[in-house]
Amino acid sequence: MKKLTLLVSLFILVSCAKDTNKELTIFTSRQPQLLEPIIEKYYQETGVKVILLSGNAQELMERIDIEGEQSKADIFMTVDAGVLWQAAERNIFSETKSKILEENVPSYLRDPNGKWFGLSKRARTLVFSSDQFSKSDFSTYEDLAKPRWKGRLCLRTSKKVYNRSLIASMIDAYGFDNSKKIVTGWVSNLATEVFSNDTNALKAVSSGQCGVTIVNTYYLARLLDDPKYDNLELVWANQNDRGVHVNISGAGIVKTSQNKKEAQKLLEYLSSGSAQDFYASANKEYPVLKDANVAESIMVWGAFIEDEINVSKLGSLQKEAVFLAQEVGYK
Ligand code: FE
Repeated sequence: MKKLTLLVSLFILVSCAKDTNKELTIFTSRQPQLLEPIIEKYYQETGVKVILLSGNAQELMERIDIEGEQSKADIFMTVDAGVLWQAAERNIFSETKSKILEENVPSYLRDPNGKWFGLSKRARTLVFSSDQFSKSDFSTYEDLAKPRWKGRLCLRTSKKVYNRSLIASMIDAYGFDNSKKIVTGWVSNLATEVFSNDTNALKAVSSGQCGVTIVNTYYLARLLDDPKYDNLELVWANQNDRGVHVNISGAGIVKTSQNKKEAQKLLEYLSSGSAQDFYASANKEYPVLKDANVAESIMVWGAFIEDEINVSKLGSLQKEAVFLAQEVGYK
């Protein structure tokens, strides 16, 4: 009897250990500190330990490719639909069929073949200096091509995927030639050389070097923590037509993962309920889940109409966008 008790307790010990020993690895280009709190919460709730391996998106994709079957990557998580699309083209992802993900993530924010799913939305819109202008001066991205804005516009480089995706969305909406005219107008309105990042473009607007720029809203949210920049004001672009350009951060399950079921559960978790409030708020982005909460500090910007182009098109039109930018000398 003693032996049996020992055996039973050994069995319990082993099976407990198995549950808490579950591990998943996310290869991600996102900053680890944005993910750590939610991953810790997931561990507390499920006993599944999530390991983050962070790095540059291109290098991580390369690594997954090279490592093949040996790769520890269960999930690849990154920002920008253009990059997710590229990962799918490189055949890194498996196809995931999940009712939960399909319900939580609107269809335009995920890959039509289920290879990747948006987990937060990133709105790219106009920010101007309230020292020089008021909200009613602005309407659309396209309007910034008009001569009225000569010497007033600041832009981040077109080499950043965010701007390539924005241009891709215009190509989808207006065609290549019309978009080319618009971007030509932007370039001729530039107040100064293009910036290497959104934050510097915002600072240039605040200092009066230029009057308006186009940025992802979370960069503005970060700067507004400092009262020095409180002359920066946001306006939602294209509210009377196609809506604000929206991109995503997102993830997919790696083709060679040995833990696909567990990986799917984690993605489902990240797309639902309180995880959505949390995940999007960490970087002051917008949740993909309808009615999830946004960070308090960005509530003042209110709701906005968004461009509901399927974000996978931002990827498939990326090459054309790059070509267009080169053609018009948008560095
Ligand atoms: Fe960013």
